[in-house]
Amino acid sequence: MAGIRSRPNADYPTPTRLLSVGYILGLSLIALMSLMAHMTLGRVIAENRDTAEIVNLAGRQRMLSQRIAFYADRYTQTGAQEDRARMLAGAEEMATAHKRLMGETSGAQKLTLSPTLKDIYFIGPAAVDPQVRGFLSHVSGLGMVRETDAGRFHSLAIVEAAENDLLAGLERVVLQYEKENAQAIERLETMQRYTVLFILATLIAEAFLIFRPLVNRVRVYSNELKQQALTDALTGVANRRAYIETSKREIARFNRTGLPLCVVVGDIDHFKQVNDRHGHDIGDATLKMVAQALAKVLRQEDVLARTGGEEFSILLPGTALHAACEVADRLRDTVSKQTVTLPNGDVLQVTMSFGIAELETEETQIDGPMVRADQALYRSKDGGRNRVTAAVLASAQPLPA
Ligand code: GH3
Ligand code: MG
Ligand code: MG
Repeated sequence: MAGIRSRPNADYPTPTRLLSVGYILGLSLIALMSLMAHMTLGRVIAENRDTAEIVNLAGRQRMLSQRIAFYADRYTQTGAQEDRARMLAGAEEMATAHKRLMGETSGAQKLTLSPTLKDIYFIGPAAVDPQVRGFLSHVSGLGMVRETDAGRFHSLAIVEAAENDLLAGLERVVLQYEKENAQAIERLETMQRYTVLFILATLIAEAFLIFRPLVNRVRVYSNELKQQALTDALTGVANRRAYIETSKREIARFNRTGLPLCVVVGDIDHFKQVNDRHGHDIGDATLKMVAQALAKVLRQEDVLARTGGEEFSILLPGTALHAACEVADRLRDTVSKQTVTLPNGDVLQVTMSFGIAELETEETQIDGPMVRADQALYRSKDGGRNRVTAAVLASAQPLPA
């Protein structure tokens, strides 16, 4: 049976709306992921900068203690005001840095000491905080009194601390800060890796759950639209446009293979009366019935199209004129036996007239055979309708008189 295709389902949810929702959802997720990645990266950079600064600061304390001790020693011996000033400046810098390292400075980058650092700073006889404070108070003491016993005591205490306990304590602080810095970076790197994995997983999930169905739906819709553009909405058979397209392919094949090709044109007889007597709806029902009856007789490779109001055109590939006449007669016969039931229960029957033309060698356009088939159709009408007439080949020799 030549293809009568089912008409597209009109109950789909609005496609554009569905597509927009899916698309917006997918894009929002990607935007969210990008924002998260951006924020994580921002944190990594900020933390790296902060911890690097802290490690630097801790290292500098060590250096300052040595420098202060150097100037304290020289000041004790020479009394040079320049050395005193350098010693006191160093002590001031060290005091400020100490506050910062212990989280005593308020502000955006306030430090919180880890339990280990708290131990190092505050617990036990080697606690660093009292040592730093003691060291600094010796420095300010020396700054005030130099040439007394007290001054010499302060000086000795400074040099002693800078060479032994304080130095060791500050060393522990630096090492601990370095260790914590390395751990923080490692944690952030792990977080970054998970963020990347999460983003990749989201993208893959989106590709499968949102974008693939989206693309499939677009494909289905576009195929349906294409189908609609080539289908006659009333009868479901091909329309004139599809018929012209298909005829080009069939004519190309005809010229390539040399197999015969026939064009059949059928027109319902007195169809105007059907409309006039029974109404347009019965006319439509009759057109559908005729399309189905024609399709039932034809083969899969035949092409059936509604090319006018109540006119159907058929291409019969691989069929010569004589065989085409037989097919057309079967079409005529089948249509004439079909019925359309009227609302009052009566049945309606219609007949059809046909014209047939065979393609001539090297013919490349459908127009010529269509005109010849139409002329043959008129002869069927003139001859009393419900009949089949074949166009005589233009190249055929006229029969001798
Ligand atoms: P003939 O035997 O000479 O072909 O006579 P006819 O009445 O069939 O021919 P005519 O061309 O005078 O009338 C064709 C009618 O087909 C006129 C038009 O109203 C009707 N028609 C065309 N398309 C449709 C359609 O889609 N639905 C319905 N119900 N009628 C249609
Ligand atoms: Mg007609
Ligand atoms: Mg007509």
